[in-house]
Amino acid sequence: MPEPLDRSTLWPYDERGESGEFYYQRYSSPTVAAAEEALGELDGGSALLFPSGAGATTALALSRLAHGDTIALAEGAYYGTGLTFAALASWGLRVVEFDQTGPPPDGVQLVWLEAPSNPFLTMPDLEAAAAHPAPVVVDATVATPVHLRPLEHGADFVLHSATKYLAGHDDVLLGAVVCRDPAAAEELLAFRSRTGIVAAPDPAWLLLRGLKTLDLRVRRQTETAGVLAERLRAHTAVDTVRYPGLGGLLSFDVADAETARKVETSTRVIVNATSLGGVTSLIESRGRWEGDRVPAGLLRLSAGLENPEILWADLEQALG
Ligand code: PLP
Repeated sequence: MPEPLDRSTLWPYDERGESGEFYYQRYSSPTVAAAEEALGELDGGSALLFPSGAGATTALALSRLAHGDTIALAEGAYYGTGLTFAALASWGLRVVEFDQTGPPPDGVQLVWLEAPSNPFLTMPDLEAAAAHPAPVVVDATVATPVHLRPLEHGADFVLHSATKYLAGHDDVLLGAVVCRDPAAAEELLAFRSRTGIVAAPDPAWLLLRGLKTLDLRVRRQTETAGVLAERLRAHTAVDTVRYPGLGGLLSFDVADAETARKVETSTRVIVNATSLGGVTSLIESRGRWEGDRVPAGLLRLSAGLENPEILWADLEQALG
């Protein structure tokens, strides 16, 4: 059954004048709490929702770190995460990038991995990271709990852009942090309540609905991405295909930026737009956002729920 959507910002005290579990929405609310419980179960920890993935990143970094601290960030992780940390530089947060397929560098206070990274699709060495003394965050937006539960591999926090696969329909902006340690979740909850970086009930309700089909969607998207990756590997116009087999996201290179622009504007079923993880397949050249950080001809493809044969025919004609 659908959960009720409660938009109240307040809940009255009881007849003795005592507050119950909910009293003011910034602290916690029933619909947000229900979505957090559902996500926490999927990831095996205590989940907290934030207004966006970037908001979750900001809240987690600011709540765990102090002026002068350094984050070891996976090279080639979502470029927006680097931008978020750069925006916090004047508060004294530093970042060093490292190759996440090996151990994180010494002398850092937080390790930030991405599984798999967007758009390079590398997988982190979770065991090496877990052996590091600093707390470990795994952004598992792309893998989702269907493919990876980082807390079971020694991570301390999982980060999700719930905007993507978790909500899954390109109509919700939402982020989440799932904590292994309930005490860390309490601290982050206190930080969230005080700073006001909190999710609203409506997106939380849409997340609850999205989670009901997460497993089905992600399994189908993974199958489709596997088929497309295999066929792209055999295509003469395609150089490199990156697909680790986890989730519906892949990337591949065509000759140059001009060719990439031609391909992305020639698809008819696959929509030329940013983002990923929804029911509609999306393609975009990443050079437009990331510049020299990515090969000029890199295209990122997020497989949706359409018939894979229709998607392949679309890609083939666009590449042709
Ligand atoms: N993490 C990853 C891997 C992402 O791809 C994104 C967005 O694309 C984010 C975090 C940020 O999430 P949001 O756009 O919900 O703020």
